[in-house]
Amino acid sequence: MYIMIQSETVIGSQSDLKPNTKNGVIILMSQVYKVFLHTYGCQMNLYDGELVGSLLQSGGFQLISQPEEADVILINTCAVRDHAEQRVLGRLRTLGALKSRHPQLVIGVLGCMAQRLGEDLKKQVPTVDLVLGPDSYRSLSGLLKDQLSGHHGYLIGCSGNPQETYGDVLPTRREGISAFVAIMRGCDNFCSYCVVPYARGRERSRPPDEVLAEIQSAVEDGFTEVVLLGQNVNSYHWESTDFATLLIAIAAGVKDLRRLRFMTSHPRDLSDKLIEVMAEGGIVCPSLHLPAQSGSDRILELMNRGYTVSQYLTKVEKLRARVESLALSTDLMCGFPTESETEFEQTLNLMRTARFDDAFTFKYSPRPGTKAARLKDDVPEEVKIERLERMIAVTRALADESRSRMIGQKVEALLENVSPREASEWTGRTRCGRVILVPGAFRRGDIVNLQVEAVRGFSLWGQVNESQIQVE
Ligand code: SF4
Repeated sequence: MYIMIQSETVIGSQSDLKPNTKNGVIILMSQVYKVFLHTYGCQMNLYDGELVGSLLQSGGFQLISQPEEADVILINTCAVRDHAEQRVLGRLRTLGALKSRHPQLVIGVLGCMAQRLGEDLKKQVPTVDLVLGPDSYRSLSGLLKDQLSGHHGYLIGCSGNPQETYGDVLPTRREGISAFVAIMRGCDNFCSYCVVPYARGRERSRPPDEVLAEIQSAVEDGFTEVVLLGQNVNSYHWESTDFATLLIAIAAGVKDLRRLRFMTSHPRDLSDKLIEVMAEGGIVCPSLHLPAQSGSDRILELMNRGYTVSQYLTKVEKLRARVESLALSTDLMCGFPTESETEFEQTLNLMRTARFDDAFTFKYSPRPGTKAARLKDDVPEEVKIERLERMIAVTRALADESRSRMIGQKVEALLENVSPREASEWTGRTRCGRVILVPGAFRRGDIVNLQVEAVRGFSLWGQVNESQIQVE
């Protein structure tokens, strides 16, 4: 499943990652090599970047923020759309120019695009020295040392352990209040348009005790909120533990965790049991990302999504009825091969019926190797763009309505940072995940109860009495 995977967000340099000394002894090298690591793509890729940071630091490397000063530049890539890959290729070509000034520089490509293209990457960008897929990161430090000592030419590692979960590696997380914890890797769904099962391999879950231990460690490091990650968290299973049971175990077994979120859910696998766990509330937050993709049964079947529009809406009705203050977001795609105007309008209808609070909208682009890539990409580009614009307009209208409905409601906000626009205000998130601005002087991690008084742009705005601050 791929919510933000699709967003093609540049997540940023990971040089600000803190060393995680819990991983054990850091190997000292006679020369400390400097690594610039930059991650593109989804939350799972960002988490992988944190794992890579940890593995590199344990291997004796130093993470830095300036590519010009680096001995090694690593680009952690996303393959979900052609546009994402083109951006990475452009970046790699630009970085290649650094090599003419610094011939010893090692340039490596990690992530889904590395796995997907393998050898072809070297052909497209000859300055690349290393290509490593998501299941091969344990070998990264050793390969880099070999290359830096001149023992190897071009290296490719895309046949890593298909059962790899990096269960013993604690990521080097950025500072903040929200930590990602992967509970599984890979995907078995093979939606016809999606490259993830090819790039990230088959689905495998981590044992519950390992997940709980990582969450407890994050809480002890100061993280108040945890976001569980998986391509399809609803199909998590370890022996008799399913996803709903895992949430119950985390709520009962992790001390001092305040908020628990998860992504991404597949509509077919979302169980009544999970809806009831969400309805119970507690630390499980009322926000859910449930990618619908299309409002046409015929297109959903071509996409191999495994549900109909009516089945999807039945789950939405149950969720809305049982989970108080639920914020529901989704992914939607337009311009899938053979999509007619009527079928596209069914998607707009679905958006209005489900009353999505937010949506990530995309136009279809064929990904080589997928089943859909064998279909004729027959919706003209200008039609795709026009449909995308209409989806965006409906998304904005629904999101505006959703925010306006919050005015007057009492909410709990977890405060994250001073507002970048107004130093006298803090930004935080409600339990349902909406951004809220709160005037006053606070500390990161404060939790405040307040009433929503207005909508400011894409954010809510509310005031709080000093007496309502719960100092964490
Ligand atoms: S194959 Fe389907 S369920 Fe799996 S990551 Fe891709 S879109 Fe999501």
